[in-house]
Amino acid sequence: MAIPAHLQLYDPLEGMRLGPQYCFLCGAPTEPPIDSVPVFAYWLMDRYDLADRQIQLLDQSIVTYRDLRIPCCQHCRTHHVEPLEAQAQQTAELGLDGWRALSAKTLFLWLGKMFYGVFITELLTELNPLVKPRYPLAENAQMFRRFHAFFQTFQALRVPIEFEDFTPASLYILEVDPREDTISFEYDDDLTTMVFSIKLGNTVLMACFADNGIVKDAMRRVVADTARPLHPIQIAEFKARVYYGAYLFNVVPDYYARPLKPGDDHLVYDTLIDDITSSVFNPWENSAYGQSLQEMWKRWDISYKAIMQNPAQPLSFLYDDLGQPRIMDAYVAS
Ligand SMILES: [Zn+2]
Repeated sequence: MAIPAHLQLYDPLEGMRLGPQYCFLCGAPTEPPIDSVPVFAYWLMDRYDLADRQIQLLDQSIVTYRDLRIPCCQHCRTHHVEPLEAQAQQTAELGLDGWRALSAKTLFLWLGKMFYGVFITELLTELNPLVKPRYPLAENAQMFRRFHAFFQTFQALRVPIEFEDFTPASLYILEVDPREDTISFEYDDDLTTMVFSIKLGNTVLMACFADNGIVKDAMRRVVADTARPLHPIQIAEFKARVYYGAYLFNVVPDYYARPLKPGDDHLVYDTLIDDITSSVFNPWENSAYGQSLQEMWKRWDISYKAIMQNPAQPLSFLYDDLGQPRIMDAYVAS
């Protein structure tokens, strides 16, 4: 049976069609720079005054938010990207309640689009022969497998896909206590472990892609204990846990589209994780987790020594010494 065009999956890694001359969603030829969409949507740049703000890429080069664009054909722009951004904009206007009411799939696709944009910008910069990257992404085979898995599920932005009994990513929505919150917008990511986080006012959205929600499930107690307004230093600790958990995550899910039957109007994906040949998580090491904390707590300038004062229990602002959730009104440097 011939597969209708709108149900045909696209794989940019086939023939490495990652450059500016191919639509990022369908691979159609595009005319750079006309056929493109911003990584951070116009409404987002307007809302947080981002357009001229600078971003430092991994190779140390500087770009502005305005410069960050991904190639996109006119059809995908008007049928897939712009409707998604319109929905995200409406949601942002509703604030935290809006994000909580948004479907997991839409949140996944919206965060996925920005993650993809940053990822591909870094990758293409690195493939430039004049650039000597500090952390060569392109040589990382595991990362490519993960990126491939991510992209298979991210095709849901273009192709109607139903995920059978799984969510393709771990998704988190956190609420920031406004009292000591001074930053209205920020984002951070880790390209090798496929984590992306963005802060919009008092809402922090975070995703760990290509993990089928397993990282979130593994930290469900922390997720349950943080369903309340958190001090920014607690948010940072939460993020350190996600980043480190994603780093320990050791498997790459496989996805399979079920064969289409005549009359099908969408694809159904099944997933499989090979946890026989390797364990799902590498073992947790407090010393490495402490480094993740130090990185996320940079703004508060907390030394590694202070974090690791008790090597069996690194410093925490989410939990007290007895392991009970900690309520924080203010941070006082010790
Ligand atoms: Zn397209």
